[in-house]
Formats: sequence, C-alpha cells, structure tokens
Amino acid sequence: MVENCNNFLYFLDDKPYINMTNACTSACVFCLRYQKDDVQGANLWLKQDDATALGVIKQLEANKDKLNKQNEIVFCGYGEPLIKLNEVIEISKYIKKNYPNLKIRINTNGHANAIWGENIVLKLKGLIDSISISLNAQDETTYNNISNPKIKNAYEEVKRFIRACVEEKIDTTASVVKDVPNHPIDVERCEVIAKSLGAKFRARDFIPNGY
Ligand code: SF4
Repeated sequence: MVENCNNFLYFLDDKPYINMTNACTSACVFCLRYQKDDVQGANLWLKQDDATALGVIKQLEANKDKLNKQNEIVFCGYGEPLIKLNEVIEISKYIKKNYPNLKIRINTNGHANAIWGENIVLKLKGLIDSISISLNAQDETTYNNISNPKIKNAYEEVKRFIRACVEEKIDTTASVVKDVPNHPIDVERCEVIAKSLGAKFRARDFIPNGY
C-alpha cells in the first residue's frame, strides 16, 4: 500500500504527468484506478481532492531538473483533468512561460463542453499543443457499457468535442482501448469515425495490472 500524499506531479518512465483530480464523469471499465492505487509508486488517490494551480506549480518547481530533460508533459491521472479547467489553464500558462521545451497534452474523456456548458476548447486554443480524447467505442450502446458516463448523450458529446478541437486546429487524437475483457469493440469502425471527425486515431492495448 502506497501512502496518499497529493501526488499532482508524477513520472511514468521519466515522462511527467499531472494528476489534477480524482473526480470523473466516467467510470471506464479499463480505468487503471480500479486496478491499482499507484503508478510506479506514486499513489494517485489524492488526500484532499482540491488541487490548486499553486499547489501543482510548487511540485513542478521542485522537479525542475527532471522537467528540463523532457519534451512533453501530460494532464492525465486518476480523474478527468478538465473538471479542473481553470487550474489547467493557469498551470499551462506557467509551463509555457517557464518550460518552453515542454509540449502540453491533455488526455480527456471529452465531456468538458457538456460539464461547463460552453465551448471550452476556445480557452485551450493556443495554450496546449495536443489533446487525446477517449472515443472508446463505435456506437453509443457500446460506449455506455465501457465508459459508464454520468452525463447525458455522452457519446455524441465526445464526438462533438473531438470536432471542436479539430476546428480550433489543436493536434487531436481520438483513442480507444483494445482487447478489454468482455467489452469487444470494432476498432476499424472507430478509426473511420475518428477520421471522419478530422482527428488522428490511436488504439492502445488494455493494461491489465496497471504500471
Ligand atoms: S475517463 Fe479516465 S479517469 Fe475517468 S474513469 Fe475513464 S479512464 Fe478513468
């Protein structure tokens, strides 16, 4: 058991990631947080789920040397980062100013416009370099069985969000997870959908026991 200690910044094979929150509008059957509490020793269950931009920035500053050796940082953890949109924006501005070597990516479930009731992509434009959005499935029924979304019309919302990112010329990838036990998907159809939305496509393997 690894102790909870507000690990906002963590490293996976030396690459930096930011864990903004444990809140999420999905409960994906493949989510690593249901398999293991930690990623390479960093417990991603936050002691207090109230990340502030300053709290995250302090951890970035404490790891300056490690960050200066990397070329990308990713908002991705045991929760949906864009639930903390304002903090993500503030942290991204800090990274752009202080770590020009780091490209910024967000890994997201694509629910943010529905959560915030506006097109938040306009706020990310020019600030982040790329975004990876969980398409997860080729149709709504399969999506709901895999993602267990807490918002209405989630599958349509995700596709709209992918298109909104593409429209703002953010480097956009729609992703799926292959070979999830008991949850087959049609990877080829997912790829056709991703491309029809103007996005790149990535099918990653299911990770059975976390990192
Ligand atoms: S959207 Fe991400 S954090 Fe949320 S349940 Fe799915 S995999 Fe886990």
